[in-house]
Amino acid sequence: MSIDRETETGSNAMAAARGYRRIATEEAFATAEMFELYRKLLAQGEPLDRGFHSLWGFYLGSPSDRARRIIERLQHLDEQRISDMDASGIDVQVLSLTSPGVQIFDPATAVSIARSSNDQLAAAIRKHPERFAGLAAVAPQRPAEAAKELERGVRQLGLRGMILNSHTHGEYFDDPKFWDIFAAAEALDVPVYLHPNSPSNELIGPLLQRGLDGAIYGFGVETGMHLLALITSGVFDRFPKLKVVVGHLGEALPFWLFRIDYMHRATVASGRYAFLKPLQRCPSEYLRANVFVTSSGMAWAPAIRFCQEVLGIDRVLYAMDYPYQFVTEEVVEMEHGPDSIEKRRMFYQTNAERVFGIAPPAN
Ligand code: CA
Repeated sequence: MSIDRETETGSNAMAAARGYRRIATEEAFATAEMFELYRKLLAQGEPLDRGFHSLWGFYLGSPSDRARRIIERLQHLDEQRISDMDASGIDVQVLSLTSPGVQIFDPATAVSIARSSNDQLAAAIRKHPERFAGLAAVAPQRPAEAAKELERGVRQLGLRGMILNSHTHGEYFDDPKFWDIFAAAEALDVPVYLHPNSPSNELIGPLLQRGLDGAIYGFGVETGMHLLALITSGVFDRFPKLKVVVGHLGEALPFWLFRIDYMHRATVASGRYAFLKPLQRCPSEYLRANVFVTSSGMAWAPAIRFCQEVLGIDRVLYAMDYPYQFVTEEVVEMEHGPDSIEKRRMFYQTNAERVFGIAPPAN
């Protein structure tokens, strides 16, 4: 028996004893070739994207322990990653190409790197099918090709949906030019994971000045706005079966729902913006019908319970946000609370199995 098989058997036995397996749904990886291209972009004089330079200038340039460990861990797609999963009680990782993925590149490079990253991810999943699942990277710079790559990723490579690292050079998916990609996701019945990016050039100014452009707050501003813009632009009226997964407990939108509903209704009725059209439902209903949230980076029981209460217990999934918030004791500490085993099973296992189409364990 190989070391891999022993590790997988050990994980299965522990999940069976616990009564559920833990599936972490927003776990990042990167390829060496993508980092090589990131380094070239960073070496160019005038920053193409201020948020990219802030984020990756730090991670690829800083001698700090945090940056060095994260760059190493992002590139592990084999035993070392599985050993970190074992150390932190994670049975399965749903992997996605770290932000901004290929969305920072020129269109031809983005198409090519998306394809090769998906191939590398699929190879890692083939090697560890009980421990890894993955989402396809696509190049929104070329929407028709992105839709085809999503289809190839799902049908040929067995990937479970796609990662969308928020804006692409300042463009957002409320623009119908991107909607071929949503049409493909809806037709394939796979989710789109809307993951943060650094705020776009138009949005980042005051955040960057204060060192708040990253995961501390700027990511949430950028991505929460993107999700709300999808709702208000009518994406979910056009694609009623589209499933969007959002990390960080919905990028604060669940907490805002009452006011968003009230002000959306008032603003549309007043005719203040001609382009802000009435929707078939109020914004909160799309969040409960089309959106799933994960706990990435938010291992905080009161906030998780709030989301379960306002969105539904079947709509909140576990994620760690490895390797950016790799905390080995996280799940054990979270399980000190009063939740029943049935509730935990939904949070850690069955919601993720349903949303990402991951088969339950064989026995
Ligand atoms: Ca993340």
